[in-house]
Amino acid sequence: MTRRSWTATAATLVLTAAALVHPGTATAAPDTVPARATAPVTLAADETALIRVELRDEAHFRELLAEGADIANRPRQQNGRVLADLVLTGRQLAALTARGAVARQVVQREGDAARRYADSVRAAQARTRTGLRAPAEGRGVGVAAVDTLHFLQAYWWTSNGKTFLQTQVATTAAEDPDVEITVTWRTADGTTGSYALARFSDAGEYQYHFAVPQAVPARPTQVTATSSLGGTARPSTPAKWPNATPPALPAGYQKDFIDAYLTPVDVQSRIRRLARQYPDLVDVIDLPHQTQGYRRTAAGYLGDPAAAAVVVESVKFGAQNMNGVQVRTVDPGRTDRPLSATYRDRVLTVLLATDGAGKTISTTDQVAAFISARYPQQFQAFVENGSAGLPMPIAGPVRLDDGLQGSEVPKRPWTVQALRIGTHRDGSRIGVLAYSQEHAREWATPLVTLEFAERLLANADTDPATRDLLDSVDVFVIPTVNPDGANYSFHDANFQRKNLVNHCTGAQRDPANRDSWGVDVNRNYTVGSLFDGYTGASTNCLSGTYAGTAELSEAESRNVVALAKAHTNVKFAMNVHSYGGYFMWPPGAYQADGRITLPRPTIDESKMFLDSARRIVGAIATERGTVTWPSQTGPVADVLYSAAGNSADQLYYELGILAWDFEVGNDRWNDATGEWEGVGFQPPFDEAHAESQEYAAGLVELLRVARDHANAS
Ligand SMILES: [Zn+2]
Repeated sequence: MTRRSWTATAATLVLTAAALVHPGTATAAPDTVPARATAPVTLAADETALIRVELRDEAHFRELLAEGADIANRPRQQNGRVLADLVLTGRQLAALTARGAVARQVVQREGDAARRYADSVRAAQARTRTGLRAPAEGRGVGVAAVDTLHFLQAYWWTSNGKTFLQTQVATTAAEDPDVEITVTWRTADGTTGSYALARFSDAGEYQYHFAVPQAVPARPTQVTATSSLGGTARPSTPAKWPNATPPALPAGYQKDFIDAYLTPVDVQSRIRRLARQYPDLVDVIDLPHQTQGYRRTAAGYLGDPAAAAVVVESVKFGAQNMNGVQVRTVDPGRTDRPLSATYRDRVLTVLLATDGAGKTISTTDQVAAFISARYPQQFQAFVENGSAGLPMPIAGPVRLDDGLQGSEVPKRPWTVQALRIGTHRDGSRIGVLAYSQEHAREWATPLVTLEFAERLLANADTDPATRDLLDSVDVFVIPTVNPDGANYSFHDANFQRKNLVNHCTGAQRDPANRDSWGVDVNRNYTVGSLFDGYTGASTNCLSGTYAGTAELSEAESRNVVALAKAHTNVKFAMNVHSYGGYFMWPPGAYQADGRITLPRPTIDESKMFLDSARRIVGAIATERGTVTWPSQTGPVADVLYSAAGNSADQLYYELGILAWDFEVGNDRWNDATGEWEGVGFQPPFDEAHAESQEYAAGLVELLRVARDHANAS
């Protein structure tokens, strides 16, 4: 058990990310991976960062998933190894490295976020306005083929002048973990090239072989596939992806209403401003379940946590007049005294018991139990890990504190708000719900939904097409579902994902765990939940995917359900997350044993999901050429991972809403290295700004989809 001291240790780990070793590709051609001149990844033991790590193999990933690791992205297979983005301390990274993992990219460091927020605000204020691989050697050359291949997907597209190809191939040799598949492409002028696919299995079951999109010199006219067992696939002509273009915007169409990252306080004032500015088109809805607010109990270590200590914690929140309360132990200076205490003038004084010689004899356990029993309305105390049974030292006074740094955030329960936008806000039009920031650290996501909202409002009077959408659709927007966690992410610990409700008990309430408390709002719903036996959520209150004490135990998730239930005209929903560039729909969860997913949509509905997705992906691409990969467009359970108790499944299976998820923040192609690079949760503001513009365009297309659906039925 590690114990975090309040001062960082000096130990710095240096891990070399260059000169990568690929044990799984011993027989591969030498030019498989261009050696990258990457700087070594360095991380102090107590520093936290978001890191792209190459894991030993898929089993290693599954171990991490089971341990409740903070996994930011679906792992990708690359050169026989598994690439995953993880939030890690230096100590955890060292442990992973010792198990054969290799750090590849520091996507974002802990300290980057505050600077990126400040930079974005400063910049806003300054503005006046507003490798191609040789085919694998066929082991089966001269031997009859033992497998058959077929293409599940073969798509090409262009993005900013570059052409990309992505393929998925299935082999009938599904049980053979060693089968290697190579895809060969050909362009119209006869240029050819090839690349290797990686096997993708999930929950122990083979799915298919695939590779990340490959840069090719021109539109590929044909692809073929061969396997190391001698199997071949019938040649296929790659289709254009997504092959859908939204209507052109008229001259003078207004956009770009985002000029800095927005804290929950900023989001609140933006909502107020929009309601004031567009009273004929906007209602503000106060959602019924207030959250805990940006509040925590006050705590302190009585004694030295490295030697012998008791943790004393207030029962009420620090902001309820408990911050600054002092606690101390004293020697009564008399013989044969029992353990006793006084609490007056905001000072708790514990008088230790003494023996006949006047020596203090209380233990840590006795002191902790005594405080909890004597002042149950004021304090709870427990023994610091490693201090059990030790003599209680004379200590303090120590000041209890909630540790919260965000001084301008109100310390009271928070009312989560939604915008309702449209000409007819009476339930007579088809409803669309867009909601974001269930996960606190996903700073770009409220920018997306607010940009979307303001585009509709600002263009209502001047653009007939926008007016038509507002006449046809009833739009609901919740920019920040999880404001308390978001405040914590902005002011205290930027990798905070969950809300601020601490359900931990006993020693897990140690302040050293302060950045790991909270409930994963998007694992707290009732459909396909952890409590129903679905996978991808945790019972551990310190896990990044902690599901809560029960289904809908949290105000944040109850609010989403309440809004959807109160407005039965809502037929479409988009749950906006970051990052990674995904476009997904149900089912979002499966039971690990047998990989039994929630029921699959019907064929017709699946077609509706995919056809609509192509339209929306096309709209996203119009802003800066970002193309969401076909391999990342599909059911959550297939393209990302199982997420037990998520909100899209709730809306779809419980309320019959066609419910999608965005993961905004697509990987960016680095032409110099020939690699796709992750953008992280809080990228430099220019990147977040670009994400807000492209995904707002996607949400506008979702309204067109909803309108067309309503017109057709
Ligand atoms: Zn998320």
